Amino acid sequence: MIKMKPLSFAQIFPGGDLYHRVRANFERLHGEEYRLDRVFMPDNYDWPGDNEGRTMLALALTSQAVHAEPEHLEQILRKVPERLNEKGYFGKILPEGVFDEQQLSGNSWYLRSQVELYLWKREERFLERIRSVVNHLLLPARGHYRNYPCLPEERVVGGEAAGTIAGDMVRNWYLSTDIGCAFIMLDGASHAYTVLPSEPLKALLEEMIDKFLTIDLIGIKAQTHATLSALRGILRYLQTTGETKYLPEVERIYRLYRTRGMTENFANYNWFERPEWTEPCAIIDSFIVAFSLWKLTGRGEYLDDAHKIYYNGMGHAQRHNGGYGCDVCAGAGHPWLHARSDLYEATWCCTMRGGEGTARAVESTFLQDGNELTVAFYHDCTAKIVRPQGEMMLKLSTRYPTEGVVQLEVLSSTTAEPLTVRLYAPGWAEASSFKLIMDGTIQKADVRNGFVVRQLPATPGTRLELRFDIGLRWEATHNRNSMPDHVTAWHGPLLLQQIPHDGQPVVSPDSPLRPLGAGSYGLDGINDVLLRPVYTQLADWNRADAERRKRVLFPSGAGGN
Ligand SMILES: [Zn+2]
Repeated sequence: MIKMKPLSFAQIFPGGDLYHRVRANFERLHGEEYRLDRVFMPDNYDWPGDNEGRTMLALALTSQAVHAEPEHLEQILRKVPERLNEKGYFGKILPEGVFDEQQLSGNSWYLRSQVELYLWKREERFLERIRSVVNHLLLPARGHYRNYPCLPEERVVGGEAAGTIAGDMVRNWYLSTDIGCAFIMLDGASHAYTVLPSEPLKALLEEMIDKFLTIDLIGIKAQTHATLSALRGILRYLQTTGETKYLPEVERIYRLYRTRGMTENFANYNWFERPEWTEPCAIIDSFIVAFSLWKLTGRGEYLDDAHKIYYNGMGHAQRHNGGYGCDVCAGAGHPWLHARSDLYEATWCCTMRGGEGTARAVESTFLQDGNELTVAFYHDCTAKIVRPQGEMMLKLSTRYPTEGVVQLEVLSSTTAEPLTVRLYAPGWAEASSFKLIMDGTIQKADVRNGFVVRQLPATPGTRLELRFDIGLRWEATHNRNSMPDHVTAWHGPLLLQQIPHDGQPVVSPDSPLRPLGAGSYGLDGINDVLLRPVYTQLADWNRADAERRKRVLFPSGAGGN
């Protein structure tokens, strides 16, 4: 059972680009689409509770992450009861034993929003709403999830950027073109279980998990957002119960996603086998899944993945206005990465999921277990550490990801007891390059299990600096559907694009490239930048940047082309 826990939002004050990203999303969620008179969908909407739930969830999380109250959340919360059916959930009351997977999926977001609000505000009204959904929508599904139609011949393959109910009922289930979305409810059900645990809910969760694990996800071309939401639900269940029995299966499905459903910039194919566009909802799911897998297994490659997903997948998908939208699937038959102009912002889902994505990025920075603090991500921020002996304020400043420079400074402390700090040591960095600098002296830095561990004296003014080298790296493509005989170029966790953008490859792994600073590279003796990171700080990012075609795959053979 893992003991380290993320610091609460109340303890972290993000700065730098991460603050800008979460703040921009919080402000986007004040747009008219998310206000009282537009957030509630009409009664005949295909995804009952989805829009309302995603909005409330995003507002609850981003508000806590930026330490601000949203203007309109309370108005929305007051109107919720009149929009629910008489049993206390969104959508129609179907005949007993009949289920609509889009209704289950939509209500999962509503359920999760009420759980996060309860954890934040501790008000009884949220617990009552959670109890209604559990008792009247979820528990009646016991014994029915095992009949969920998951054979390819039972499914209709279709679907636009928003799924629809496809055809007639199959074995008492109304099915969606977002194939597998019934299992998004694993996310809501496991979240409800954290605040209202019960044996019947546990039994239902295990029935859902057992069924989900039998599905041939490739065969039915499952939606990757549904797949990864289900994985998030299973991982939350494992973290809540301390059980590990499903962990190997979750790792197997994550590997399947990585090799069959992930783009070369660590975004996603919207469905397995159908690389038509990316969906930030799934990119954010994959970030949370990779981070949770690292927490549960301690295997550093999962944390390395989470960094790559954050900078390249989520980074490219966030729009200049703070929302999120869909890109092309880099590597799937072409070497390009760019926003799809027709899906520039997915206001009806991905912008709201961006709220959880950016907030979880804040929350994933630090984890604590008593007198031990793990720093898993490097973002400019300050943090309050509540320890058994007293409280400390720490400041984290960094030039990561373009440079391997991270500094922790003790701003204040009410205890003299040193703090054990574990600093993330990326798996791609040369182990011999890690150095610790404290009080002007350079000290040896051993990397163990993906971390450099050091005692930090609790004296105000103490500064501990970690340095490591970041160089150019060429990597094989990870998705087996990607263009054969092509590679990608990396500076640390940052995927590199070619300059000039829209043209034939001018560099290859054989090119004599040298660093020009800020993660950029050029040919020996020439100062023109030929490779530079796709990742750009949000303040410097605009629609033209997102839509520009960027070459991110290169022929692996000698001399290019
Ligand atoms: Zn989405």
